[in-house]
Amino acid sequence: MPIRVLDQEIVSRIAAGEVVERPASVVKELVENSLDAGASQISIEVRGGGVSLIRVMDNGAGIPSGEAELAFDRYATSKIGSLDDLESILSLGFRGEALPSIAAVAQVDIVTRAADEPVGTYLSLRDGAVVNRESQGRSQGTTVTVKNLFRKVPARLKFLKSLATENSHIANIVSRYALAFPEVKFALFIDGRATLRTPGSGQLIDSIIEVYGLEVAQNILEIKDKGWESGTAVSSPLVTGMVGSPAISRSNRDYLSLFVNRRWTNSRLLAWAVEEAYHGLLMQGKHPVAVINISLSPNEVDVNIHPTKTEVKFQNEHAVFSAVQKAVRQALIKLMPVPKIEEVATIYGAPSVPRQGLPVSIGSDSGLTPSLSVAPPTPAVTLPALRILGQLLSSYIIAEGPDGLYLIDQHAAHERILFEKIKDQRLRQEIEVQGLLEPVTFEVNPKQEEVLKSHCENLAEFGFSIEPFGERTFLVRAVPALLSNKDWAEMVRGLLDSGGDKGDWVEKIAISIACHSAVKAGQVLTDDEMRELVRQLEQVAIPHTCPHGRPTMIRLSLGQLGKEFGRR
Ligand code: ADP
Ligand code: MG
Repeated sequence: MPIRVLDQEIVSRIAAGEVVERPASVVKELVENSLDAGASQISIEVRGGGVSLIRVMDNGAGIPSGEAELAFDRYATSKIGSLDDLESILSLGFRGEALPSIAAVAQVDIVTRAADEPVGTYLSLRDGAVVNRESQGRSQGTTVTVKNLFRKVPARLKFLKSLATENSHIANIVSRYALAFPEVKFALFIDGRATLRTPGSGQLIDSIIEVYGLEVAQNILEIKDKGWESGTAVSSPLVTGMVGSPAISRSNRDYLSLFVNRRWTNSRLLAWAVEEAYHGLLMQGKHPVAVINISLSPNEVDVNIHPTKTEVKFQNEHAVFSAVQKAVRQALIKLMPVPKIEEVATIYGAPSVPRQGLPVSIGSDSGLTPSLSVAPPTPAVTLPALRILGQLLSSYIIAEGPDGLYLIDQHAAHERILFEKIKDQRLRQEIEVQGLLEPVTFEVNPKQEEVLKSHCENLAEFGFSIEPFGERTFLVRAVPALLSNKDWAEMVRGLLDSGGDKGDWVEKIAISIACHSAVKAGQVLTDDEMRELVRQLEQVAIPHTCPHGRPTMIRLSLGQLGKEFGRR
C-alpha cells in the first residue's frame, strides 16, 4: 500500500483509543473536567459497567453556548493558550482530547449552562458529529451523558472484563478523586445504587471514612510537613495527606493514593518513596494505606507524558523522593513511637497467639488433630518416614530421614496440609462451619463491595455466611471453623483486594484460608505436634511445596554432609 495520510475518522478512532481504554477512563476524564470547572458537587451515574450509560453531572462553570461545539473539537481547550502555559499546568485537563475522544467511540449528549447565560445548551453527538442542538433549561453546570460505549469498536468491547470488574475500576477512580478533593461533594451511583457519597466538608478524614470505612479512619494520622507547620515560606515540594498505621496494612497497593498537585498519578517513584518510609514496619508482601498529595510549582513537574495524564516526571526526582519519604516517616513515628523489634513482631502480626496456651490450642483449633474425615490420598511424591529431632527458631522442624537431614518450614507445610484438606472437604460439601454467637458487621470499600457481591457464593462454599446489610456493609453469621479464632476479616479483605476476576476463586479462597489458619512461624510446637504435622505432610499429594509454590522443606543429603565435612 502506498503511503498516505489517514482520513479523519480513522485518526480520531486511533487517538481515542489512547484516552479511552475502558469505561473508567471516561469517568475519569469527565470528573476531571467537572473539577477543572470548579464544581463543588459532582454526581456520577453508571449502568451496565459503564458501557450502557455513564452520566456525570456538575455544578461547575458550564460552557458558554457559543463554545459548546468547539469543546468537541480535537485539541480544543480553554485551559492553556500558549507554550508557556504548558510549563505551568495546574488544571487536570489541558490536551483538549477527552470530549472528542469519547464522542468518537460512544453516543454523547451534553447539557451545559454558563453563569451569565439565561438558558442552557443541549448538544447531541453521533460518531463525533453534532446531530442536534437546542436550548434547554438547567441550573449552572454541565451534564455529560455517554451511551453505548465502544458499540462501534468491537475489538475494545471484547477486551473489557466483567461488569463487576469495570464497576470496580469506576469506583476506584471516583474514590481517588473523592480523596484528592475533600471539599467536593461526590456521589456515585452504580446501577441505581448509591455506592459512594462524600460530604464535601473539606476534611480529608471525612472522605477517608466514606471511601475506606471507620476502621481505616481510626488508624490514620495526618502528615504535618515542616513547611506547613512553620507557616512561613512553604517548602517545595510540600507533602500533605494521611498515613495509615502499619496495623492496617493491605495486601496490595490499592490503598496507596498518590496525587501531584491533586492529579491522581500512578508514579512508581512516589509509591516507592512511601513504602521506603514504612520500611521495617510492614510484613513482607504488605502495603500501606496512605493518601498523599505532593504540591510543587507546576514548572517542576511534567504531566504531559501520556494522553491519560496519569504519569508524571519530576525535574528533581531526588528532592521529591526524599521529601515524601521524610514526611511519611515523621508521621509514622508520631503514630507509633519507636517500636522495639519484639513489639514489631507482636503488633504487626507474626506470633499473635499467647505462647503458654499453644500446646493445648494447637490440638483443637489448628487442624493438627489426627483427622479421620480426610481419607489419605495416594501420595504422588512420597516422603520418607522422618524422625523429629527438634525445632529451630520456633519456625522450622528438624528431622532425620534415611537419606539425610530435613528442615521443614512449619507454616508452609501446614499450609499445604490444610489447603488439600479444605479443597477435599469442599468437594464433599463437608466444610466445618462455625456459627458466630452474634452476627458481625463487615465494612468494605466500594471496590471490595463489587467483588464481594459477585463472589459471596464462592465464599459460602467454604463456610462463610455473608449477606448484604445496607450500604457497603455486610453481615457475617458464620465462618469456616478453621478460622473461628483467626482474623477472618483480614483474610476476606485480602481476598477482595486481590481483584475481581483474576485467578481461580476456589483455589484462591482455599489458599487464603489455609494461609490464615496454619501455624505461624515463631510458634513453639511440642514434639507430638511436630510429629503429627510431619505425619500429615507425608499423606498429602504434593508435600514439597506450599500452595503458593514455595518449598515446604529443604534436604541436606548424606552425600552433601560428607562433602562439607571433608569425609570424601
Ligand atoms: P481539556 O479538559 O483537556 O481542556 P476536554 O476535551 O476534556 O479537554 O474538554 C474541552 C473543553 O470543554 C475544556 O477545556 C472546557 O473548556 C470544556 N469543558 C468540558 N467539560 C466541562 C465541564 N464539565 N464544565 C465546564 N467546561 C467543560
Ligand atoms: Mg478534560
